[in-house]
Amino acid sequence: MTEPSVFTRILRGEIPAEILSETENVFVIRDIAPQAPLHLLVIPKTAEYRDVTELAAGDPALLAEMVAVAKDAAAEHGSGDFRLVFNTGSGAGQTVFHVHAHVLGGDLAEGSLGG
Ligand code: AMP
Repeated sequence: MTEPSVFTRILRGEIPAEILSETENVFVIRDIAPQAPLHLLVIPKTAEYRDVTELAAGDPALLAEMVAVAKDAAAEHGSGDFRLVFNTGSGAGQTVFHVHAHVLGGDLAEGSLGG
């Protein structure tokens, strides 16, 4: 058995975090180390998928739900415009292998993909 991810532990209430919103399948929290004025994480409740490529292959409807939840959260907590980032693989900066989307908003560098 692998250890539960930090996000599973948040969902279970073992690590404190404010759940900003949730659906049956997805929940939203603020990133603990924000990289933009608005930095939310949209996370499936299931830890079955390690990254977005596994999720897209295994449950595309859940990926679509994450995008819809990101849109609503960006509108509720920011201006409505947002950047959606899925770090995929440790070489790309992924540290938690329980798929999640970074929702970045606010004063993002123009023309940059860096966020
Ligand atoms: P990634 O590096 O793409 O795997 O993203 C993992 C993200 O989870 C990082 O941006 C972390 O800052 C964030 N993170 C880790 N632990 C927590 C926590 N307890 N509460 C909120 N965000 C967290």
